[in-house]
Amino acid sequence: MGQMAKKGLIIAIDGPSAAGKSTVGKILARRYHYTYIDTGAMYRALALKAMQAGIAEDDEVSLTDLLHRNTISLQNVFGEGKQGKEGGGHLRILWNSEDVTSMIRTQQVGMMASKISALPGVRLAMVEIQRQIGRQGAVVMDGRDIGSFVFPEADKKFFLDASLEERARRRFEELRQKGMEVSFQEVMADLAARDRNDQSRQLAPLVKSEDAIVIDSTHRGIEEVVEIMVREIGI
Ligand code: C5P
Repeated sequence: MGQMAKKGLIIAIDGPSAAGKSTVGKILARRYHYTYIDTGAMYRALALKAMQAGIAEDDEVSLTDLLHRNTISLQNVFGEGKQGKEGGGHLRILWNSEDVTSMIRTQQVGMMASKISALPGVRLAMVEIQRQIGRQGAVVMDGRDIGSFVFPEADKKFFLDASLEERARRRFEELRQKGMEVSFQEVMADLAARDRNDQSRQLAPLVKSEDAIVIDSTHRGIEEVVEIMVREIGI
């Protein structure tokens, strides 16, 4: 990792899809003036571009090449004064200079991201980019393998969980609010399939690190989860 002085902590938030990681991650980043990194959005951006280019979900060489030839960047846009779900501000995802933020949030892109992220070549290339972004610290990074694989030496590791039904309910509301036509059953089946993909892949599967602080958000609101995390972080 090198010996350069870190600018701040590395805070890892892992957990299954739709457990609330990005919502609390943005709030924490804003609170500490850290950079928020949504690693799922990075896999989603690659998935979107692969779909547009007609690259198959198992074409590891073309997918890795596509990632190497392009640049994914994340811009934190922290508005002032807003509270609640968007209290942490907004994250803009750029593929080179193209803003793909709204295009990556569909079910299809999510499923493609889930499949391509299981390919070792793709994951190792993406992890390398994530380490470059986060190594200096002062980051809140959310994903599936941050505390276990990307930054095993992270200063704080959280594992945010919630029941499948509750996660499906939240994701369903979110997609409906964005005007997407989806059924609750469809959303729940999609999350269950992605959970299976995440837990069963060979390289860096979704696991609770032994040193991670587990928080179940099924019956907890955003503020309560953030409060627990802030207490644990201790700054
Ligand atoms: O978090 P989000 O649902 O946006 O991530 C999309 C997909 O990317 C997930 O279903 C997961 O399979 C994959 N992913 C991953 N490792 C990460 C982040 C996301 O495999 N660190």
